[in-house]
Amino acid sequence: MKKLKKILYNTFFYITIITIIAVIFFVMIFIVMKLNVYALTGGDDNNICILIDPGHGAEDGGAVSPSGVIEKDVNLSISLFLRDYLQMSGYDVIMTREDDSIPATGDSLKEKLHNDFSNRLAMYNDSKTDVVISIHQNSFENPQYYGTQIFYSPNDERSEKLALCVKRAFRGLLQPDNQRDITKAGSNIYLLNNCTKPCILAECGFLSNPEECANLADEEYRRQVAFAIYCGIVEFL
Ligand SMILES: [Zn+2]
Repeated sequence: MKKLKKILYNTFFYITIITIIAVIFFVMIFIVMKLNVYALTGGDDNNICILIDPGHGAEDGGAVSPSGVIEKDVNLSISLFLRDYLQMSGYDVIMTREDDSIPATGDSLKEKLHNDFSNRLAMYNDSKTDVVISIHQNSFENPQYYGTQIFYSPNDERSEKLALCVKRAFRGLLQPDNQRDITKAGSNIYLLNNCTKPCILAECGFLSNPEECANLADEEYRRQVAFAIYCGIVEFL
């Protein structure tokens, strides 16, 4: 009887110790996660706000493929899918445009395009914005090149990590043979070079490559591209 009591006592003792250790462990994980969110949102509120910038729009079509696929349309379509995935996951999303327009006015096209850049940059650096994703398509005179390329802003060190996460998602989900390195944006990419938030630009594919262009013209492929970017963002966050 005494032996049984001792066994019961020991069992109770060890279960109590393990429970206390488990509780401390989970409380620490919770605190670390909270601190991460706090660092990213600046502490204003707990919901992370992602700005999606579908490149070009309206008179500014961007690149055009030999078959007539216009970059601004592909950018918008991918961005809208990405917006939906992020909103469904509970993130706040702001778009620089949600239709075939640009977020600017002006008396001349030149003035309008100039205002477009400064207005987009103001949205990039707005206090509400936590993460910036700019969506574009590539084009090159030699049609053999294909594959996603990710550029990152040089001003916040988290941009490089975000770029790596999105690149890894593309390789894992869509382009296992994509060997392109992520690239730090120079002064030639104005918005990234002047953005102060974690920020990347995804050149999702080459409109100048006939096969990739045919993929990008397909809505289902654009949805998969958006999903790859979404997975990269979630991994980063
Ligand atoms: Zn572009």
